[in-house]
Order: sequence, then structure tokens, then C-alpha cells
Amino acid sequence: MGELREGFWNRPLGELNRAEWEALCDGCGKCCLHKIEDADTGEISDTNVACKLLETGTARCSDYRNRKAFVPDCLRLTLSIVEDVPWLPSTCAYRLRAAGRPLPGWHYLVCGDRDAVHRVGVSVAGRVVSETEAGPLEHHIVEWPAPDMDLLEPPVLAETGDDE
Ligand code: SF4
Repeated sequence: MGELREGFWNRPLGELNRAEWEALCDGCGKCCLHKIEDADTGEISDTNVACKLLETGTARCSDYRNRKAFVPDCLRLTLSIVEDVPWLPSTCAYRLRAAGRPLPGWHYLVCGDRDAVHRVGVSVAGRVVSETEAGPLEHHIVEWPAPDMDLLEPPVLAETGDDE
């Protein structure tokens, strides 16, 4: 898997080892929700219906290691396809880094707090229903609110005043 190098999330995606690639995910859970594609226009609508493996209260996969055995079409995001997945949310760490943009301030790798993604409303924790209970997808089309853009900036570090 490899070691997590200091500040690895600022390196180009192509330089990340497997452990670093996995660690880049912010845990928002949005890629684990069903989408509906309009057959005529190709337009993609979001829903609040989660894969059966997603823990709806935490937005974590309940069996990430073995997920392919239960959900064969679960997408495995890789470097070669990351720019070709149109429905990744604008906040997705892979999408941001593929575009050469920095991780947002609420990303746990930046702020050190895995709950920040939930607090700022980027994750789907507590806001989705499992596909095992949802019924027709068409009844669950949603538009996820855009997160507060101010929170997408890296936090400003306080001056230490050491040189006084
Ligand atoms: S959308 Fe991106 S950051 Fe969010 S859970 Fe999926 S892979 Fe991780």
C-alpha cells in the first residue's frame, strides 16, 4: 500500500501511492448515492437513495473491503477515469486534485477533523435513505445545496509572532 507522506495531498494525483490515494477520500458519501440519467438528454439527477452498503447515519461504507462482492458495479475510482466521471460532486477530493485545485479547509487531511465534512454539510450523513427502503428512485430526486464556499478555503494559520 505504501506510507502516507507528509503533505501527500498536495502532490499530483499520479504521484500518490495506493494508501495515499485511498486516504484522499473525504468520506462525503455522495458517490454512494444512486443517480438517474435522462435517456434522451443524458442529464444526470442526484437522488438521496444510498447504496445498500452505505451506513446512512455516518456516510461510511459498511464493508468497503468486500464491497465488490455485494455490489459488483460499485465504481472503483482510479487515476485513469477520475476526469471522466461526470457525476462526482464538485467537492470531491479526487475531482478537485485532478483539476489542480487544493483540498478545502474542511477536508480532514487539512484540518485534522474527520467530522468537519459532516459539520459543514458536505457529507450525506443523516440525509439519505437506503435503497432497501426507498422505493422508486424517481421519488427521491434532490439537489444537494452548495456548501459555503468560504469553508472551501484552507484555514488561515495564526501568526506565531516568533520574530518579535
Ligand atoms: S465523492 Fe469523492 S470524496 Fe466523496 S466519498 Fe466519493 S470518492 Fe470520497
